[in-house]
Amino acid sequence: MDTYFKALKQILEGKDDITFFSGAGLSTSAGLPDFRSDENGFWKSNSPVHFSDFLSSKAFRQKSWQNNIAIHKKIKNTKPTKMHNLVNKVLKRRSNNFHITQNIDGLHRSKDNENNIIELHGSIFKAQCLECNAEYETLDYFKKLNTGEDFICSSCQKGFIKVSTISFGQALAPESLEKAENASMTCKFFIVLGSSLKVSPANNFLRIAKNNGAKIIILNKDLTPMDDYADIVINDCLENIYEEIK
Ligand SMILES: [Zn+2]
Repeated sequence: MDTYFKALKQILEGKDDITFFSGAGLSTSAGLPDFRSDENGFWKSNSPVHFSDFLSSKAFRQKSWQNNIAIHKKIKNTKPTKMHNLVNKVLKRRSNNFHITQNIDGLHRSKDNENNIIELHGSIFKAQCLECNAEYETLDYFKKLNTGEDFICSSCQKGFIKVSTISFGQALAPESLEKAENASMTCKFFIVLGSSLKVSPANNFLRIAKNNGAKIIILNKDLTPMDDYADIVINDCLENIYEEIK
């Protein structure tokens, strides 16, 4: 076995705190479309709604909900990959292991890892009132598209209900950011899974981890601008890497 794979396997099976950071590469290997390299045109036909448009017009709110339905349909038959399962096994072992993810598809979830998952960009399975933060199940709101009703919170009667994924133009939730910062600060190993690390805050968490003494491991198909920070870089798709370390 290649030395890098051997080291990685030892880390994953070891007793030190690990924080994973995953991007689209973890989900594309499960067959989901990536926004940046959308070969099948999924995102073209379901173009994202800017946050300011969501606030200003009912038609855009309907479009946003329509997109959510399309994503639900798209992922219906998608299953977590072996790498998702491996990460969950590592999370289950220690309460101080965390998984920060930019993915909204919920493939990373399992029933025992809720407290160790930080969904930076939210989730397609939840909806929230933008005024009073009341939480709703997205499925209950799909029928409003047929009735033509607007998406108004039944609790405060004034806020709009939006799928809890972060839209373009919308700020990330401060509590997720704080949790992700803490998980980056305290870990001994910071492992990137399938992220190009080109945008903030993705690369900030890596810097925070590095500045606090963590070893950095980057597993990504392509080179990233943060590779110089890393102790181990493996450029391959995650399925292939999994086969080497399973
Ligand atoms: Zn409300």
